[in-house]
Amino acid sequence: MTVETPDMDELLRLIPTVTYGDNNPSQSVGVRGGALHLSAVLPALSSAIGHPTATPVHADPQACQRALGFPDVTSAIVVLVDGLGYWNLAMRLGHAPYLRSLMNDTANQRPIATCAPSTTVAAMAAFGTGTCPGLTGMAGYTQLEPASHTLIQLIQFKDALAPKPVNPHIPVPPMINPLDLQREPTMFERLAAQHVRVTSSGLPKFAGSPLTEAALRGSDYQGNVTPRDRVLAAARAARTPGLTYLYIRDADKVGHNYGWDSEHWVAAFEHIDAQLALLHRSAPKGTLIVIVADHGMVQTDMSQRVDIAEDPQLTQGVEFVGGEPRSLMLYVKAGENPEDIATRWRDRLGETALVRTQAQALNDGLFGPMDERIKPMIGDVIVQAAGAATFVDSRTQNDKATHLPSVHGSQTQLEMDIPCLIDVA
Ligand SMILES: [Zn+2]
Repeated sequence: MTVETPDMDELLRLIPTVTYGDNNPSQSVGVRGGALHLSAVLPALSSAIGHPTATPVHADPQACQRALGFPDVTSAIVVLVDGLGYWNLAMRLGHAPYLRSLMNDTANQRPIATCAPSTTVAAMAAFGTGTCPGLTGMAGYTQLEPASHTLIQLIQFKDALAPKPVNPHIPVPPMINPLDLQREPTMFERLAAQHVRVTSSGLPKFAGSPLTEAALRGSDYQGNVTPRDRVLAAARAARTPGLTYLYIRDADKVGHNYGWDSEHWVAAFEHIDAQLALLHRSAPKGTLIVIVADHGMVQTDMSQRVDIAEDPQLTQGVEFVGGEPRSLMLYVKAGENPEDIATRWRDRLGETALVRTQAQALNDGLFGPMDERIKPMIGDVIVQAAGAATFVDSRTQNDKATHLPSVHGSQTQLEMDIPCLIDVA
């Protein structure tokens, strides 16, 4: 492969805020997004399978298809590999013969962008609806739920600050209805309404999960326990014209537990490559296979870790700290001026963070087009980590959460650049 990986200092530098829309920014140096964005993948695939379906962010699915380079087909499988950023992939390609063969193709030697924040819930919803966090209302691992004035966690839609349940095997009922928060129709719903077959293949426990309901509802969900069965279910579904979605979790899970540069991660990555190779062999001839991710991963540096709880300059005037350790949303106490808080945080964190008030972040288009309903959810001050820094809060996060070896969420190249690999079986 001829892709040259930038050095780590460059990969950990903050990049300009990505854009939303249907234009192809590949000719403009330093510009990311437009049609080369995770939110454009399903609109582009809808066009590729002959049912071009627009969204409020992507009005021209054909333009997205052209920009992403998808051929016309009758059946397409899109695989989302959680946490497999473009540069994480590029740096470990020696372990992945199938992915390496795809990366030899010049068409695949370009990353596309994920959304900000570069985190699972926000990216899944932007992907699933073909829109952006400003419209889906899914803008961070945790965020304010304005009606109850509580911080909610958007994987399970539960109270983020509630004590851990006594029995972790009994699922906590969601605090809010996922359909009430995320009101954009999903691309699966839009396609199913046109009588297009839409199938999801994933773990049985995610079939009706709040995150699936919010971001990816509307498909025929096929749950299987083993990775092999999930791959084969996707390949079988692809025999009928339409769209198939396959979710692969382990790169993210193992990355959070052991670090993306660990041997455990490499083993998981090798296993993922084998699953994708099996998909290539099992899918009907002529099926389009597109492989994307929701974000990349950054190895944390504990010497650059800041505990907000121990720093009065950071806690002053702040009621809730939402988001995640690489991308915070600060909710100010009544009567406080967000600009004052932003100034204190800038003074304290210096070069290690980009601190913007909500008005500045929206002016930069950080969350894409913004629905007024969503504004109270996203925080008065947005803080994004540069380098390998993390900003944790030991008042509300447990020891494991404040010491994760690998994380994501911010606006660096390593986190924002994702693969969009094209294969035809
Ligand atoms: Zn993820």
